[in-house]
Amino acid sequence: MQPSASCIFCGCHSTPLPIAGSTIRSDFTSLFLSAQEIAWASTHKFYFGQCPQCGVNRVFSSSHLPLLGSQNPSITYKEPSHHHNTIASKLQKYFHKVEYPINIFMHSKKDESLAHVISSFFSSSLNINIVHPNRFDEFITDTSPSINVWLLSRFIEHINKKELLDELLICIAIGDYVIIEMLDFYALFCQLNTSFLWDERTYYPTKKYLLEFLLSKGFEVLETYIDSESEPFFVLVVKRISLNQSLSSFHSSNVLEKDILSSSNSRLLDYCHQRFKMFRSFSFYGVNHKAFLIASILTRLYPDAEIKLFDSSSVKLNSVWNSIVITDFSNVDPSSECHIFAFDGEFSSKIKSSVLRSNPTAHILSLANLFHPLAHDHP
Ligand SMILES: [Zn+2]
Repeated sequence: MQPSASCIFCGCHSTPLPIAGSTIRSDFTSLFLSAQEIAWASTHKFYFGQCPQCGVNRVFSSSHLPLLGSQNPSITYKEPSHHHNTIASKLQKYFHKVEYPINIFMHSKKDESLAHVISSFFSSSLNINIVHPNRFDEFITDTSPSINVWLLSRFIEHINKKELLDELLICIAIGDYVIIEMLDFYALFCQLNTSFLWDERTYYPTKKYLLEFLLSKGFEVLETYIDSESEPFFVLVVKRISLNQSLSSFHSSNVLEKDILSSSNSRLLDYCHQRFKMFRSFSFYGVNHKAFLIASILTRLYPDAEIKLFDSSSVKLNSVWNSIVITDFSNVDPSSECHIFAFDGEFSSKIKSSVLRSNPTAHILSLANLFHPLAHDHP
């Protein structure tokens, strides 16, 4: 099974050949399954590339799943929520004369916080329904007057099958509002930050590309929110004003997407090789997709590397990623040459000192610093 799939935006069927050696086989990093539960469907082959037609940066994945990332619903992602009041207040001018109920369609748990903030913002004057995916049909087919608001927080970039985006676009009616949040991959790329690479984040459009796509599908842009703090992201509030359903007509003729994935991937590979070439045993503390990205790079660079994964989350413990079992912190092995921490604070300091007591030459570093070659390690 070779990675191939139509581009979700332009519909292009052709799949460029991967650069030699760039195809990777991996267990999904968002599943956290036990060894017994792991099946063919929990593993894919993938490589980073660009759509040959529209140029969007994307992951070519062999998975048949329509959506990747956030596949284990018990995993809570720590998405920022500091801007949700601002987004809700931006909606005020559109909703102040509304008399109908507002239906807020949530696609994933990542929409939960914004859904509740919007709900409490307007609940004194309006009847609000928060609609989970299992009740979408019921609310879409209800013909009584209502305002629909579709939340897509960090969602589109995980769609793996075009059919899923097409179905979503069919559900969004004229007059419906859509609120899209996405990391600003291009801004991260310009900061030389490579932490956005994730094989389950399948598409990496720029804001400009996404806006062009939305315009081509009959949306107008009402509001844009840009957050350039720590991990830059943007929010677009758009409204559907026409049903341009020519689903394969999108050509981003005015957008020249830069190749940000394969160049970031090779930059990270080079950097990791420089950083880790003297080590062959690694312990990771706190396991998330960023830790898995570094772990997968280490196994590609050094097939004989010994990798240990530690976490405290009951969902993650005893699950398996690429044959490595995730165990709890009581199993910490100070003999690893390199110790990589995904978290700071008192607990991590405790582990670090106990590691250094038994193994004074152990190398300790912070996961976040690995994605930025200009950053320094803080032991
Ligand atoms: Zn395309």
